[in-house]
Amino acid sequence: MRSLTPVTIELDAIRSRIADAARAASRDPATIDLVAISKQQPETNVEAVLRAGHRHFGENRVQEAMARWSAFKPQFPDARLRLVGPLQSNKAREAVAFFDAIDSLDRPKLAAAIAEAAQKEGACPDILIQVNTGEEAQKAGVAPADADAFIAEARTTYGLPVKGLMCIPPVAEEPAMHFALLAKIAARNGLSELSMGMSGDFEIAIRFGATMVRVGSALFGTRT
Ligand SMILES: *Cc1c(COP(=O)(O)O)cnc(C)c1O
Repeated sequence: MRSLTPVTIELDAIRSRIADAARAASRDPATIDLVAISKQQPETNVEAVLRAGHRHFGENRVQEAMARWSAFKPQFPDARLRLVGPLQSNKAREAVAFFDAIDSLDRPKLAAAIAEAAQKEGACPDILIQVNTGEEAQKAGVAPADADAFIAEARTTYGLPVKGLMCIPPVAEEPAMHFALLAKIAARNGLSELSMGMSGDFEIAIRFGATMVRVGSALFGTRT
């Protein structure tokens, strides 16, 4: 359905839905960033979105992202790329060197690996901590009960530039309570960035304070 529509039309449509949701929540639309999730999408569509002026993207795999974005980065040097998928400690160095932000920090071992890599690289990407708000066994993220302690550890012990939190609610649940929980944990830890909301629920996430929405299929079409 959507995949037949030119992606630039979808880009405009998503942007106006974000603006409408912001206004409905009495928020300034400029405080909400669209992160275009380009994983498994055809290059031509990603390039069309870049040519349309969009500059903020997310990928979920280090290797795949590097293969694709090594070509785009020289052409679009101001494009920002976030890692939104799980990261193995042994790929921390590559991820730190390549991404502008890592949104999936969720354990001390990885925090240590990122800190060590950042020291070697001389710079550290922005960091978001992923919270497993639904406490799902198969899902990455720190448990809500452990979040405060882990945020403090990431900041203090490892000195990481923690900017905010990310969550992916369970598929079969009403996402609002998960977004509310993430916003509450961020507020009590003095964190301003909230990455929450995907294609199916970004308007709800905006109502609960999202500052970044991660939209893939609603923008680019069904993944290949
Ligand atoms: C794939 C992915 C998205 C985008 O999902 P859509 O439903 O296609 O918008 C968002 N966040 C993460 C972490 C993802 O892996």
